[in-house]
Amino acid sequence: MPKQTNLHCSFCGRGRDEVKILIAGQEGHICENCVEHAQDIITQELGLKQEGNVATGNASSSLTSSATSNFKLNIRKPFEIKKFLDEYIIGQDDAKKVITVAVYNHFKRINQKQSQDDVEIEKSNVVMVGETGTGKTLLAKTIARLLNVPFAIVDATVFTEAGYVGEDVESMLTRLLQNCNYDVAAAERGIVYVDEIDKIARKGDNPSITRDVSGEGVQQGLLKMLEGTEVLVPPQGGRKHPDQKMIKVDTKNILFICGGAFDGIDKVIARRINTNAIGFNVNKESQDYQRKNLLQFINAQDLKSFGLIPELLGRLPIVTYLNPLDAETLRSILTTPKNSLIKQYTRLFEFEGIALTFDEAVLNFMVEKAMEYKLGARGLRSICEGILTDAMFELPGTNENKLHVTLDYAEGKFNKSKMSLLKVA
Ligand code: ADP
Repeated sequence: MPKQTNLHCSFCGRGRDEVKILIAGQEGHICENCVEHAQDIITQELGLKQEGNVATGNASSSLTSSATSNFKLNIRKPFEIKKFLDEYIIGQDDAKKVITVAVYNHFKRINQKQSQDDVEIEKSNVVMVGETGTGKTLLAKTIARLLNVPFAIVDATVFTEAGYVGEDVESMLTRLLQNCNYDVAAAERGIVYVDEIDKIARKGDNPSITRDVSGEGVQQGLLKMLEGTEVLVPPQGGRKHPDQKMIKVDTKNILFICGGAFDGIDKVIARRINTNAIGFNVNKESQDYQRKNLLQFINAQDLKSFGLIPELLGRLPIVTYLNPLDAETLRSILTTPKNSLIKQYTRLFEFEGIALTFDEAVLNFMVEKAMEYKLGARGLRSICEGILTDAMFELPGTNENKLHVTLDYAEGKFNKSKMSLLKVA
C-alpha cells in the first residue's frame, strides 16, 4: 500500500494524486502532461528535419515540395495580366503596363531552358515611385495573387532601426517562407514587396553622418539579395530563436518590387529636365498637376540623386511611377473595383438581410472628406466606418431590412465620429 502512494511521473516528478493518468513503463511511469509535451517535441523536430532536407538542396525533396505545392504558377499573357489588374486597381495605367511586362519577362526568364543560356536574361526587379496610398502595395499584391506565387510585404525602415544589417535583410525571406507554409520551392519564385525603399536613401552627399551610413548599409545588404544569392534564412525570424536551424533559399528567381513616396523627387526631376515649373507663384492645384506630370519622367538617375546607391539601382532596372489620386479617381475607387469599399459594405449588410444603398451625394461627400483630410484612398475606409459603424452596431437583430444612407445621415454620423477631429490645417 505505501508503495502505491509513492508512484510518480518519472519525467516531471508529479505524484499520482497530482495527475489524471500515469502510464507504467518497464522502469518508471509517465503522466499525461509529459506525453503531450513529448508529442510537441516530436512534431517540432520532425517538421524541422523535413525543412532541413529541402534546405540542404536535396533535389528529390525539392521536387516533391513543388509537385505537392499549392502554388502552381499561373502564367498569363501581358494583356490578361493587365485586364486582371484593371478589375482591382483604378487608373495607374503606366505602372500597370510596366509591371505587367516586367513580371511576364521575369517568368519567361525563369522558364528559360538551360541550353539557351548563351543569352542570359537579367532579373527585372522594379521600383515604383508614388505618394503613399496610391496603390503601390495593392499593385504588387494583386499581381502575386494572379500569378499564384507566395508574396510578402516588408518595410525597409525596420532594417535601418535594427542595426545588424545582414540578419535583418534576410528576415524578409522569413516572411515569404511563413506566407507559403515553408514551401521553399514556391518561395524561390515568390514576390517580395519592399515598402518605403526611399527611407533608406543616403541623405546628402556626406557619408560620414551616422544615420546616412546606416541607410547605405541596408542598401548594401539588399544588393546581393536582389541580384540572386543563396541565403540562410532563420525560419522563425530574428534573434529570438538563436538555435533554430536555417533554411537555404535561393533568391535568383524571387522578384523584388520596391516602392516609396520619394518625397520631393519632383524637384530633382524638374532640375534634371531643366523645368522651372515649381515656383512660388504657382498655386496648389497647378503644383499638383506639375508634380503628376513630372513623375512620368522619372528615371534611375533621379533615384540616385535622391540617395539610392548606383549598385542598388543597377539591380532595380525597371522604374515606374504612380499618379497622385484626384477626386475623380477616388470616386471610382469607392465603387468600381471588384472588391470596392461600397461593394464590401453592401455585402456586410447583406449578411444581416439588410439592403444598403447610398445617395450619390453621399459618395461625393466621402471623396470630398478624403481630399479635405488629405487621407487619399486609405482614408475612404475610415470615412465609411465613421458613417456606418452606428448602423452596423444597431441594426443586426432588428427587423430592419434596408438602410438608405442620405447626405444628412452621412454628415451627421461623420461629424460625430472621431475622424472629424483629425482635420489637417
Ligand atoms: P501604397 O502602397 O501606395 O501606400 P496601397 O496600395 O497600400 O498604397 O493603397 C492603400 C489602399 O488604397 C488600398 O488597399 C486600396 O484599397 C486603395 N487604393 C489605392 N490606390 C488605389 C487604386 N488606384 N485603385 C483602387 N484602390 C486603390
